Amino acid sequence: MADYNVIVIGAGPAGYVAAIRCAQLGMKTACVDKWDSLGGTCLNVGCIPSKALLDSSHHYYFMQKEAKQHGIKSEGLSIDIAAMQARKNKIVKMLTGGIGGLFKKNKVVSLKGAARLISNTEVEVNTQIISADNIIIASGSVPTQIPVTPIDNEFIVDSTGALAFDAVPQRLGVIGAGAIGLELGSVWSRLGSKVTVFEALDDFLSVADRKIANAALKELKKQGLDIKLATQVTAATVANNEVTINYQGDQQLVVDKLIVAVGRKPHTDKLGVADIGIEIDERGFIKVDANRQTNVANIYAVGDVIGGPMLAHKGSEEGVMVAERLAGQKTEMHYDTVPWVIYTHPEIAWVGKTEEQLKAENIEYKVGQFPFMASGRARAHGNTSGMIRIMADSQTDRILGVHIFGISASELIAEAVVAMEFEASSEDLARTIHAHPTLSEAMHEAALDVDGRVIHS
Ligand code: FAD
Ligand code: AMP
Repeated sequence: MADYNVIVIGAGPAGYVAAIRCAQLGMKTACVDKWDSLGGTCLNVGCIPSKALLDSSHHYYFMQKEAKQHGIKSEGLSIDIAAMQARKNKIVKMLTGGIGGLFKKNKVVSLKGAARLISNTEVEVNTQIISADNIIIASGSVPTQIPVTPIDNEFIVDSTGALAFDAVPQRLGVIGAGAIGLELGSVWSRLGSKVTVFEALDDFLSVADRKIANAALKELKKQGLDIKLATQVTAATVANNEVTINYQGDQQLVVDKLIVAVGRKPHTDKLGVADIGIEIDERGFIKVDANRQTNVANIYAVGDVIGGPMLAHKGSEEGVMVAERLAGQKTEMHYDTVPWVIYTHPEIAWVGKTEEQLKAENIEYKVGQFPFMASGRARAHGNTSGMIRIMADSQTDRILGVHIFGISASELIAEAVVAMEFEASSEDLARTIHAHPTLSEAMHEAALDVDGRVIHS
């Protein structure tokens, strides 16, 4: 008999959630992770520490730039980076420790060590071989490196290094205008860095709705981020405590620190994936079928390591799905309703198709739009940037995509996700009573606007 019903490799949001759900469903479950603390990238060096610094830096930015309009004086304002980092570290410690508590509560056996696949039912951990009826790989992802900018973890850093600066770099370069580059660039810009972002593509946030992306670009530039689109970095060299960045052939910029945020790649190092015949694609992602099963019987994979949106909540839901399918349930995952959020200020969030995708797919649609400028709550708050856009099918009125740039977009998008999950029409949202005064009224008004019935703009 096998030691466990399930062994989960990796205790990030995909793995730890899968392990807890397996255990809840009565499976004897072990979760192996090689890091000292549980929670994977997200809790240790991703979602959580970045949001802690985004919130701290926003408070400083608010006191410096916006408090005055509320009649609040901020003379003698200063920042203590060590205290800010200590706060961030405390939050990480509390949450990662919390997963240990959840494992105990749910009777998940937590094993520390690097796991290596031996067969479709065996895993080696710390020279010991343990066995299970099924194995779930949730080994996540690591930052992509590019040869032209070798990471030295002092001057040229990846996202992990950028979360740990002990002082505000006067001049900061960021390569990559994706979510991670924009969020980390925003943190240090708000704290005083002169930030230059290099992005090889001509389109800003090419995956987002164009109107939303353009509005966000304008706002971020206004905040002081120098975002250079269609600009390829070709080299970076460190000398005299400075980084010289070469871009577009003969152009140069000298900065104090350079963050390389050019994406993430699947993490399967030393996992033995190839040794037991698990297929990977040309980019190294583990190939899975609709049930998240690999080509090898009894082995499943979830989260960043299988690609798709590299988002914590996407991995967690895949973890739940695999656990429930192992228990004989018929759980499905709806990739069409995975919300995306970029935690700039204001935030960018969306679910479903962009206007550009609808056009490319020849789907006839109607658009409703509402600017936060016309929202009483946004005005009271003091930030009226951005808008909500809703796209609905011309014939059926079914909501196909909702796109937000504005304060609390990360929270507002949940209403759209629920509506789309329930296959709602824009009229369903338009007939739903929203509390006044709230930012969610902008969702209501955008829905009304789909049918030309908007009241407040
Ligand atoms: P991971 O979180 O990467 O976890 C994988 C785990 O597997 C790790 O703990 C690793 O130690 C372990 N492991 C790997 N190989 C082995 C092995 N052989 N043996 C034992 N253990 C192993 N996503 C969001 O949704 N929202 C955000 O706001 C957000 N912000 C981010 C900010 C930053 C700076 C970064 C870098 C990422 C951010 N992400 C965010 C992405 C998010 O962190 C990932 O999508 C998520 O962590 C993926 O979860 P995962 O469980 O698949 O993998
Ligand atoms: P993401 O994968 O969303 O985190 O975004 C990473 C971004 O980095 C992508 O938009 C890439 O186009 C960009 N990128 C990758 N390499 C370079 C480079 N050498 N110079 C500038 N931008 C780059």
